Amino acid sequence: MIRITQMKLPVTHTKEALKEKIAKTLRCGKLPFTYEIRRQSLDARHKNDKKFVYTVDVFFQDEKKISKKVYNNNIMSIKEEPYHFPKPGEESLDFPPVIVGSGPAGIFCAWYLARAGYRPIVLERGEEARKRQERVNDFWKNGILDPDSNVQFGEGGAGTFSDGKLNTLVKDSFGRNQEVLKRFVEAGASPEILYQQKPHLGTDVLVRIVETLRHQIEEMGGSFRFRSKVTDLRIEQGALKAVVINETEVLPASVCVLAIGHSARDTFGMLHDRGICMEPKSFAVGLRIEHPQKLINEELYGEPENEILGAASYKVTHTCKNGRGVYSFCMCPGGFVVNASSEPGMLAVNGMSYQARDGENANSALIVTVTPEDFPEEGPLGGIAFQRLLEKRAWEAGKGKIPVQTFKDYRMHQASVSFGTVCPKIKGAYTLSDVRSILPKEIGDSIEEGILSFGEKLKGFDREDALLSGVESRTSSPVRMVRDKDLAANIRGIYPCGEGAGYAGGITSAAMDGIKIAESISKKYRNF
Ligand SMILES: Cc1cc2nc3c(=O)[nH]c(=O)nc-3n(C[C@H](O)[C@H](O)[C@H](O)COP(=O)(O)OP(=O)(O)OC[C@H]3O[C@@H](n4cnc5c(N)ncnc54)[C@H](O)[C@@H]3O)c2cc1C
Repeated sequence: MIRITQMKLPVTHTKEALKEKIAKTLRCGKLPFTYEIRRQSLDARHKNDKKFVYTVDVFFQDEKKISKKVYNNNIMSIKEEPYHFPKPGEESLDFPPVIVGSGPAGIFCAWYLARAGYRPIVLERGEEARKRQERVNDFWKNGILDPDSNVQFGEGGAGTFSDGKLNTLVKDSFGRNQEVLKRFVEAGASPEILYQQKPHLGTDVLVRIVETLRHQIEEMGGSFRFRSKVTDLRIEQGALKAVVINETEVLPASVCVLAIGHSARDTFGMLHDRGICMEPKSFAVGLRIEHPQKLINEELYGEPENEILGAASYKVTHTCKNGRGVYSFCMCPGGFVVNASSEPGMLAVNGMSYQARDGENANSALIVTVTPEDFPEEGPLGGIAFQRLLEKRAWEAGKGKIPVQTFKDYRMHQASVSFGTVCPKIKGAYTLSDVRSILPKEIGDSIEEGILSFGEKLKGFDREDALLSGVESRTSSPVRMVRDKDLAANIRGIYPCGEGAGYAGGITSAAMDGIKIAESISKKYRNF
């Protein structure tokens, strides 16, 4: 195939125009060809002349008919190695592998193990997607929190109530990233995610997709059990013998994948007590900021709305005088701030958008990196103590509701008593308060300095009535479970996986880590 990169067309171009541009670029006249878009990104530097930039793979019956003169740095003949899942190993398995958690890491690990004939059993403490959705809507409406089935816990994991952004910075020379996107497309996602620079699913689509993936895994011999929390492990002579479910049921197992996510604090405690080697890990904390989406579109596209491009997304970063970095994270165009708490008396926020991203406001987390030096306690669970400290303050600042403050009041260190023209777009009850008081001084100051600097890049970002809510504390895992070259923990048969284990950040990278663990188990054990 011939790969063409850096091919530019106006964002208003037609499908025919793309085909004509390919034919003109390869000077192939009427020679028939097919093509596949491998990447589409946006170049909006010239607001009046916004362009899509394409990478396309072109297929001819006989590529030799294309003149050698057309080849250059952006036009090359290439051969791509397809993704390979390893052949089963020799060691026998007495029981099916157990996968704890049905987030992206657990689901993708289960999908590839099921397809390879390992009949995995997925144990999930929360409910299946539809019931969970009702539970979460009830929480947002009436404030009744279910500590095991909420925005963090349940089928699909933490990302189910999200914007479903699928981009990742993880380098991928094995083709696992494309595998993840292909599985999502087969499960109902739009094929455009295969090539968009910033692919996203939207929470309304995600619920259907995780259900379809479950059905596929069940058809391939896997099984799911919901409301099934792993509360203990049975270990003998350094090897796993069984997992304990809901404090009572003992399920024999010699292989267990811990894909528990970044919020399973009770489970981290249990694993630490059972001798799973883990260490404290840096993460980031901060607040969520809201602006009118039209303001962001105006700044990035030069127009308040654009039907083809939809809601604009930004990424901003700033290094403060105090040396700390402030950056935007998990930006949700046309989205909502959500109450993403999972423990009573604790309050954490996050963001989500529906597939259409047609909400009035844009929001993102503005976060600052924190390290074990910032944690109130030593040891692997120090980060959890830090999160709980902030979330307790947030809960108190809002008396159980999401505390919200205007940037003007934030700068004056005073509680807000009224909003300006920006109205909160929040899932869950909220109240006016002093959000700055939640944060340690250095973090609070860094965020103020960051917002002012972002106001120089995006006019209006630092407007007085921009809204801040908090606390954003679940940005990634506060612990890392140590794993060896075969991706196994210090207890034989245990495989730490995904975000909770400290090896991923985001839906796609967690899913990719799930595939990696499935490969490692397959290389070692014979299937059924
Ligand atoms: C509101 C929100 C929005 C987000 N938006 C995005 C986004 O747009 N794009 C993006 O890339 N990332 C986003 N993220 C982050 C993303 O969701 C996570 O990075 C990803 O889900 C991590 O996948 P995981 O499988 O490792 O863990 P998780 O998705 O956290 O799944 C872990 C699962 O394990 C279960 N579990 C935990 N303990 C036990 C136990 N003891 N027994 C049984 N089951 C257990 C949990 O219930 C949970 O379902 C968002 C997160 C949130 C909360």
